[in-house]
Amino acid sequence: MLVLGIESTAHTFGIGIVTGSGKILANERSVYKPTLGKGIIPKDAAEHHENDKEMILDKALSKADIPLEDIDIIAYSCGAGLPPCLLVGANFALDLSKKLNKPIIPVCHQIGHIEIGRLTTNAEDPVIVYLSGGNSQVIAYAEGRYRIFGETEDIPLGNALDVFARGISLPMPGGPEIEKLAKSGKYIQLPYVVKGMDLSFSGILTAALNKFKENVNKEDLSFSMQETCFAMLTEVTERALAHTGKSEILLVGGVAANKRLQEMLDRMCEERGAKFYVVPYEYSMDNGVMIAWVGALAHNSGWKQDLEDKIKPAWRTDQVEITWFK
Ligand code: AMP
Ligand code: MG
Repeated sequence: MLVLGIESTAHTFGIGIVTGSGKILANERSVYKPTLGKGIIPKDAAEHHENDKEMILDKALSKADIPLEDIDIIAYSCGAGLPPCLLVGANFALDLSKKLNKPIIPVCHQIGHIEIGRLTTNAEDPVIVYLSGGNSQVIAYAEGRYRIFGETEDIPLGNALDVFARGISLPMPGGPEIEKLAKSGKYIQLPYVVKGMDLSFSGILTAALNKFKENVNKEDLSFSMQETCFAMLTEVTERALAHTGKSEILLVGGVAANKRLQEMLDRMCEERGAKFYVVPYEYSMDNGVMIAWVGALAHNSGWKQDLEDKIKPAWRTDQVEITWFK
């Protein structure tokens, strides 16, 4: 069985092809880049996806070395995401499914990040730390769903890092730039905001931007942003591990690439005798493979999804019934 997955929730238009047993045959993508100093403009990102979708499809098919007709199932990112971007992927998936007369499976983007992490690391039943431009959640499987144990109350961590980076004139994406500068920074105090199991990053962002106006240097601010936000996440993740009694941590999403974050979570795991896993870099970013793989899992477990809503811009991780978890 071959599943083609389409990702188009935000900046990335991606197509992945996987077999029913999780062999990855193609992972192609094209990323919309906003103009310098600007955030993502949904209409422009959608236009980018529309322009590049056929080219990415051709690239994925030639990488997998198969004709389009060999595809058995079309899966697509149905949400959460930006409506104009989601619509490009959904319409493309519907067209392909009609043309090939093959089933279509709408996939929740966040579940894609989790499942590609489990597939590529062999983590079995981890506490998942999912950090991206649009999400910051600490998640664990319980009774048929991926439940959210803690999450941001305001902006996601990736977004906080990007807005901070823009505020101090660094290029996008901001996370890697901040990571570089942080290497030569020292600690200055920023607000540390954990409320129960939830987190807040907007106050830290404002405080850091204000300190920049007071001439605190970029290196110290970058270091302190990282130390504060990552320590908050490590605290909440440790508590989730203790509550659930699980013995693995899986770090996924674009921010997973950060070495300092990996180091802090790894050390916490070591102290608790838990195993630490990080999704490989090429699958940490938004990609079509993760969507194809959830399509395969859903199909293999006999999952049926009605197609009432073509897109679900506010679909939440814990609204999805997980029929394949063992
Ligand atoms: P995603 O939304 O999953 O595609 O992830 C994109 C986010 O990951 C952006 O906010 C980036 O700034 C962030 N990111 C990428 N690499 C790093 C890094 N090395 N450290 C921190 N954040 C990162
Ligand atoms: Mg994502």
